[in-house]
Amino acid sequence: MKKINMVDLQGQYAHIKPQINKAFEHILDTAYYVGGPEVKGFQANLEKYLDVKHVIPCANGTDALQIAMMGLGLKPGDEVITVDFTFAATVEVIALLNLTPVLVDVEADTFNMDIDALKKAITPKTKAIVPVHLFGQCANMEEILKVAKAHNLFVIEDNAQAIGADYTFSNGTKKKSGTMGNIGTTSFFPSKNLGCYGDGGAIFTNDDDLAHIIRGIVNHGMYKRYYHDVVGVNSRLDSLQAAVLQIKLPLLDSYCEARAKAAKFYSDGFASNDKITTPKISNFTTHVFHQYTLKIDESIDRDALHQYLLDKEIPNAIYYPVALHNQKAYRDERYNEDDFKVTNKLCKTVLSLPMHTELDEEQQQFMINAILNFCK
Ligand SMILES: *Cc1c(COP(=O)(O)O)cnc(C)c1O
Repeated sequence: MKKINMVDLQGQYAHIKPQINKAFEHILDTAYYVGGPEVKGFQANLEKYLDVKHVIPCANGTDALQIAMMGLGLKPGDEVITVDFTFAATVEVIALLNLTPVLVDVEADTFNMDIDALKKAITPKTKAIVPVHLFGQCANMEEILKVAKAHNLFVIEDNAQAIGADYTFSNGTKKKSGTMGNIGTTSFFPSKNLGCYGDGGAIFTNDDDLAHIIRGIVNHGMYKRYYHDVVGVNSRLDSLQAAVLQIKLPLLDSYCEARAKAAKFYSDGFASNDKITTPKISNFTTHVFHQYTLKIDESIDRDALHQYLLDKEIPNAIYYPVALHNQKAYRDERYNEDDFKVTNKLCKTVLSLPMHTELDEEQQQFMINAILNFCK
């Protein structure tokens, strides 16, 4: 059996090595390292793939979130609602801009924003909602957009984990994840579903004015060279990363299919065990399985299972072990433990298994057997 990896970027590279090496050689020969034609090319291809008017590439997914909030003109003290169960980047940029993060609980079955919790958290100071399409499936955007409209709030979709997922509204309209709110953001970190070979990110919007503002912000607030109209940042995708993404974008749908197939194999394997809850997919979204995350019944020692698997050289991870409202950096006396029952429980029960495009069934069966053996 091949050694099992949490992600297998070497295996994936082997399939596209000639194209990547050729593209890199061209960039090295021309020395067009920043702002090369690959960046514009990738931007246009991604706009087409997502069916969105504007893609603005930037340096990483965290910057993308920060720039989105700067672009919307949010001011210190404005409240921004996001989820308690996500990677810290989402809440970090809210705090960094001196906005007030308001964390809300998630749904137990999808790990995504709980709509009742969202409604409860709205105050006159609320300015924006940041749903995170966690682990690869979309949050309930139809409801979130309704709430946003009723209260005149911006919506920024943190789409770092769900690029390629399709959302279907109740009237049948289909949209790509990240293109439904005012702004969508993503990350091209190597282990993300569409990853480059370093850092990268992008911002999506259908709003022409917002796109113009954001294009200036990513470039030191310049709309005309050396005239700085607003405070900006330096955040760009470089040519080498854009070249990787240009080669990988046409493969994204096949990557998503490979992940979905692996997810089904896992879920079929665990179906007979009532101590293991496999991922539930909402009926309005596809799932691109950035993570394949189990919930382990509390009668089983999840942390012991984690270690048991590591001892068998089965990589696995706990995303996320600590709720954001319990992190030192984000604690706030306004929070009440009772409002985070689901997240608190998820932190104790989730376990993510290896998920990537190169898994084979022999590896998966080996992992399934080990886990079933522990969860007898
Ligand atoms: C990875 C990730 C980010 C940050 O992306 P970087 O490119 O690492 O800065 C933000 N939000 C979520 C949900 C992520 O998974």
